[in-house]
Amino acid sequence: MKTPLRELWTGFRSLLTGMRVTLTQFFKPPVTVPYPYATLPIPERYRGHIELVRDPETGMSLCVACKSCEKACPSGCIVVEGIKREGDKKKSPTVFTVDFTRCSLCGSCVEVCPTEALRFSRRYNLAGTDREAYFLDLLKRLQAQAASTPTPATKA
Ligand code: SF4
Ligand code: SF4
Repeated sequence: MKTPLRELWTGFRSLLTGMRVTLTQFFKPPVTVPYPYATLPIPERYRGHIELVRDPETGMSLCVACKSCEKACPSGCIVVEGIKREGDKKKSPTVFTVDFTRCSLCGSCVEVCPTEALRFSRRYNLAGTDREAYFLDLLKRLQAQAASTPTPATKA
């Protein structure tokens, strides 16, 4: 049986051990960041939801509305519609949506695209209070990007 003095000593020793750990960590550089004011670098291979790639020259989508991604998607979550406008050599998309609630981020759509018009976005903080927040209109998103960062061609 421990005497009160011995118990006091054990408690004091345990307090010192705790303080030593706290002090050691206190002087080490932090491994966390004050999110959302700062974020850690996102790894190269990170997969956010898919997004359309802009042609760096025209600022428009590289998509030719061939529907290969729609057919390749095992979850059936992509919908693409397109038309061939007068004077254009290729079709362009008029509808491009993704139901991200069903996407498994498998990458089949990105791999099958013949024009490299699809890629994984870097978006990691997608959040919403209902399913609608995850039904993504990729054409609208591309248009918003074009408006905020115009290319020389789209500025004119
Ligand atoms: S990553 Fe896979 S599941 Fe997601 S949209 Fe592309 S093909 Fe479909
Ligand atoms: S496979 Fe590529 S070019 Fe064809 S519809 Fe999908 S994104 Fe567009």
